[in-house]
Amino acid sequence: MNAAKRLQIFERLKAQNPHPTTELEYDTPFQLLIAVLLSAQATDVGVNKATRVLFKVAPTPDKMLTLGEEGVADYIKTIGLFRTKAKNTVATCRMLLELHGGEVPQQREALEALPGVGRKTANVVLNTAFGQPTIAVDTHIFRVANRTRIAPGKDVREVEDKLLRFVPVEYKLDAHHWLILHGRYVCKARKPECERCVIADLCEYPAKPL
Ligand code: SF4
Repeated sequence: MNAAKRLQIFERLKAQNPHPTTELEYDTPFQLLIAVLLSAQATDVGVNKATRVLFKVAPTPDKMLTLGEEGVADYIKTIGLFRTKAKNTVATCRMLLELHGGEVPQQREALEALPGVGRKTANVVLNTAFGQPTIAVDTHIFRVANRTRIAPGKDVREVEDKLLRFVPVEYKLDAHHWLILHGRYVCKARKPECERCVIADLCEYPAKPL
């Protein structure tokens, strides 16, 4: 795909949704971090349902730590892998309090050192809480980047690196939101809805029915 096409794609995605953001609900960087940590292999809707109650009881790392693993597990047991996630949540809170004064660090290395926090979670937090132009590649972005040929790659890291190289600079901050939403609601895994896709004429997916 050439640069002119990529530019047009992001122009159109922006025109459709000028101020995209995550569908996870949160009030602080800490709550975003925990919501993303809980969202692995779960839907944002399911995570929001649990965190609406959890964040009322434990909005900060110290309150979450007081709740303890069993307490956190009770609030998130509707989410997949909840035992591991409860354990990581509490361990992360302990580290935030011991090493970062209860604040979420703004450096990738410090974020990725937190239990249960990988590159994708760090990218979301750096981007959405701290305004850094990172791109977190999830299953939706991986699919859209490959189908459209915006940034084809055999694994998420290759797609991330290519997106960082190829997405026009003025669209970098919001690119991952546009691509996730496009993949979630239009360019769906089993049946992409190409007939109502705003970038259909630019997309290079060989199987698109147009
Ligand atoms: S045309 Fe189809 S395959 Fe291409 S981005 Fe749109 S929905 Fe996805």
